[in-house]
Amino acid sequence: MEKNQWDFTSEERTDLFAYVMQLINDYYTQLPESAVAPPLDLATIQKHVSKFDFSNPVNLKYAVDHVAYGLSNYQVHTTHPMYFGLFNPRPVFPGILADLLTASFNPQLAAWSHSPFAVLAEQYVITETGKRFGYKETDVDGNFTSGGAEANLTAVLTALIAHFPEYSKEGLRSLPKQPVFYVSKESHHSFVKAARVCGLGTNAVREVEALPNLQMNTEVLERKIAEDIRAGYAPFMVVATAGTTGAGIMDPVQEIAGIAQKHQLWFHIDGAWGGAAVFSDEVKLLIQGCEQADSITFDAHKWFSVPMGAGLYLTRHKQILHETFRIATDYMPKEGLELQVTDPFTHSIQWSRRFIGLKLYLSLLVYGWQGYSNMIDETIRICKQLKELLVANQWKVVNDTILPVICFTDPEREDDDVFIQKVCNLLIQSGGTWLSTYRVNGKLTIRACVINYTTSEDDIKRLVKLLGEARGKA
Ligand SMILES: *Cc1c(COP(=O)(O)O)cnc(C)c1O
Repeated sequence: MEKNQWDFTSEERTDLFAYVMQLINDYYTQLPESAVAPPLDLATIQKHVSKFDFSNPVNLKYAVDHVAYGLSNYQVHTTHPMYFGLFNPRPVFPGILADLLTASFNPQLAAWSHSPFAVLAEQYVITETGKRFGYKETDVDGNFTSGGAEANLTAVLTALIAHFPEYSKEGLRSLPKQPVFYVSKESHHSFVKAARVCGLGTNAVREVEALPNLQMNTEVLERKIAEDIRAGYAPFMVVATAGTTGAGIMDPVQEIAGIAQKHQLWFHIDGAWGGAAVFSDEVKLLIQGCEQADSITFDAHKWFSVPMGAGLYLTRHKQILHETFRIATDYMPKEGLELQVTDPFTHSIQWSRRFIGLKLYLSLLVYGWQGYSNMIDETIRICKQLKELLVANQWKVVNDTILPVICFTDPEREDDDVFIQKVCNLLIQSGGTWLSTYRVNGKLTIRACVINYTTSEDDIKRLVKLLGEARGKA
């Protein structure tokens, strides 16, 4: 029988799997000695990408080498223990295997009947995660998303539908008043994008000033709501950020919950990365009150360290996703309608969907909640040490949070943005580490976050040494 040219034989697959595994193992073994970030030379990278023009096929091993070279040499290694960047984790191994299994079995998560195991596994994880956030088991509902941005967009949509049921059919034009919602100035900009995507327009996002400690100023929130109502707008949602992206600040959840309740607004918590704190035995009190949230955003691909993309939208309103996304079709399988199960396509922005939840399911099977709690506490401990070392080396920490992100500056040159940026650039160019800058109360600071579970005390010491050298050169 002639070999199907699209397929690979069992022997070829075994050989290639072994080849790729070796390559990945080499990558992880060599990583600590490699530069964290490459020079960003557009022409060189473009040349590598377009080396082949697809008219002369190459063999798979050769193609894999080509890709691995590109990934090894032309990306910031967010997997590196010296990467102190933007919540991009070093993916846990069970998560990597989960993506391999997902790609290989390719379950279709649009309709329950096509992949009942995968759908129920996701729902199980959603329920168990929702319970950890304080929701009642019987209330929890949710869906897996590509990430926090999709979860936040889902929140805006469900809040709109909850407030203005006619929005579903007639759209925003049918509403007598312009809906508006409230976020802190320190909130993630995915809400601005969400406002644009769902037709509200970006002016509908009311940014509430933060206090000097960077928490949402709830007096200003109250005042803005009152002003908007007087001016004929229709407030429908308020968002508390549990762990701001920039400085790891927790908005006052309880207070904001109270204000939301008073004005009957949908209360959403964006805990994309900081939400992980509820899984720690030590810091979970930080987000007390999150059970009052109508919905919650939580990203498993940040502090929980599964590969991108894995976000979660959680809610305690069983019907709301159904009301927001249900579409009746002739061509979709119907078996799910007769059972107490959910067809995910009726519950989510996505339609055909990969088994996003497996990354979390498999990792939880292996590490358990306790394992996650330990990992979270350990990264917090390492970051606390970093903070102490920075202070001991004449750096000034300007954000106050127990979450593992530090914004700091040189107390002698705090007003010198150019200097701060130069220190950061020198560090990145050195290849020794990667960190970013963030503006706190008008002043540029250096920002380091520690969510990589392999970052050690030695790495922290090395970072502080590199910082000292860069400060001397800048
Ligand atoms: C990262 C982040 C988001 C966006 O999540 P993505 O997974 O990048 O889509 C939203 N909110 C907060 C607070 C974040 O830190």
